[in-house]
Amino acid sequence: MQRRAEIDDSTESARTYLKALLGDDTAAELREAFLDAAPRVVEFLENDPDIEFEWQAFPEYYEAPGRTARGRSFVPLPIAAERLGALAALVRPPVDRDRAGLSHDPSAPLAQGRALIGRLALAFTNTGRGDVRTGTALTSLIVEDGRVVGVEAQGPDGPVRLRARHGVLLAAGGFESSAALRAERSVPGSAERTMAPDGAATGDAITAAVAVGAATGNLDQAWFCPGLATPDGRAAFTLGFRGGLIVDGTGGRFANESLPYDRMGREMVAVDDRGPMHLIFDSKSKGLPAIAVPPAVPEEHLAAGTWVKADTLDELAAKIGVPADALAASVERFNGFAAKGVDEDFHRGEDPYDRYFTGGGHGLVAVDEGPFYAARMVVSDLGTKGGLRIDPDARVLDASDRPIPGLYAAGNTTASFTGPVYPGPGVPIGTGMAFAYRAVQAMASEEK
Ligand SMILES: Cc1cc2nc3c(=O)[nH]c(=O)nc-3n(C[C@H](O)[C@H](O)[C@H](O)COP(=O)(O)OP(=O)(O)OC[C@H]3O[C@@H](n4cnc5c(N)ncnc54)[C@H](O)[C@@H]3O)c2cc1C
Repeated sequence: MQRRAEIDDSTESARTYLKALLGDDTAAELREAFLDAAPRVVEFLENDPDIEFEWQAFPEYYEAPGRTARGRSFVPLPIAAERLGALAALVRPPVDRDRAGLSHDPSAPLAQGRALIGRLALAFTNTGRGDVRTGTALTSLIVEDGRVVGVEAQGPDGPVRLRARHGVLLAAGGFESSAALRAERSVPGSAERTMAPDGAATGDAITAAVAVGAATGNLDQAWFCPGLATPDGRAAFTLGFRGGLIVDGTGGRFANESLPYDRMGREMVAVDDRGPMHLIFDSKSKGLPAIAVPPAVPEEHLAAGTWVKADTLDELAAKIGVPADALAASVERFNGFAAKGVDEDFHRGEDPYDRYFTGGGHGLVAVDEGPFYAARMVVSDLGTKGGLRIDPDARVLDASDRPIPGLYAAGNTTASFTGPVYPGPGVPIGTGMAFAYRAVQAMASEEK
């Protein structure tokens, strides 16, 4: 895809980038397995007539050796719902509508993540070698003579036992929706504020594998992001700040708001004990000066109190419970940076990522036109990234680092080799795809 888009890049350069971010430690084997599989899985999938991708410019998340100027990410091309036939009904609505409980036109083309899900479901179904069952939730693994040979699940008509011919690949997401597991593992944020869709990501696959002896790692980690607190008590994934400043409970700014979302999420985690955080903006921005998924409806936020509005900054400070002099000083300093076009404290607008969503601008816009707004910000996440430990072929390991025969895992069900780092766009899904591919290849090549 990069070659088609005339992007000059290499595996070596991607290796340099990942090494610079992650070090060259025990996760190196998994990093190498990913680097090896990534181009092959793309080529394999693109050989299928139902799967088409294209490269998309989106800067990686760190300035480090090996970073490419415009990123290494790609997206599936949209696909018409008619082409999917009955499979289209299996794909959930777009996340912004699904989350807000809004209706969705099922005949609309599928784009982005939905296009990937739809295309994969179509390609798989067309092989004629299996079927897709929804509403069938894994409850436990069946082990015979030390080998995982199938699963027990709760189906729409009651419990079912499903035998596996080659092995079981667990890819049932993370545990971000489980308040109990989050608390047990001290994952920052909360089950209410995660972006997981309703009814998913309760850690079932991890629990089932642990019950047969699987080892886990990284259990306190997630793909973090800033969340805009929403009137329903949840959060909206927020990125692409084109104005405004975020202050913590002391009224002070604490980070470059335009940082890649996982990095900003982690900055928020670090100050979460200082009291509620708020995005401060003014009337010029005409609504939230950022992208929120689902989008923010100002009237609803103001009615619910997740946003407050005031004619003066002093009044605003009183409403959000921060010292008025501290808020005034933060805004004044920020406005000074806006006038100069230089953020002397946190360097906002200096990195290509910061400028990606702002049309090339630095995103430093003076907050000086009342009425003023404060929108409550919270720590959110796109899913947990700790879970089952795997080897380079995605075999699930036990506490002695031995593969559990017949058991494989990929995606957020596993302990990501990226640990506390989100290197760049597409890493969650990309690593999930690469290890799922390796698992299936390993299963296929195992002697029966
Ligand atoms: C708004 C938003 C935007 C994002 N954008 C990107 C992006 O651009 N690129 C990127 O790489 N990542 C992105 N992410 C993150 C990415 O979507 C997730 O990290 C990724 O989907 C995780 O994949 P997974 O296969 O591990 O789990 P999931 O996608 O969570 O899939 C797990 C599946 O397992 C099912 N399941 C759960 N429990 C059971 C059970 N007991 N039995 C059977 N099935 C079960 C679930 O219903 C679900 O269908 C985004 C996330 C959000 C919220």
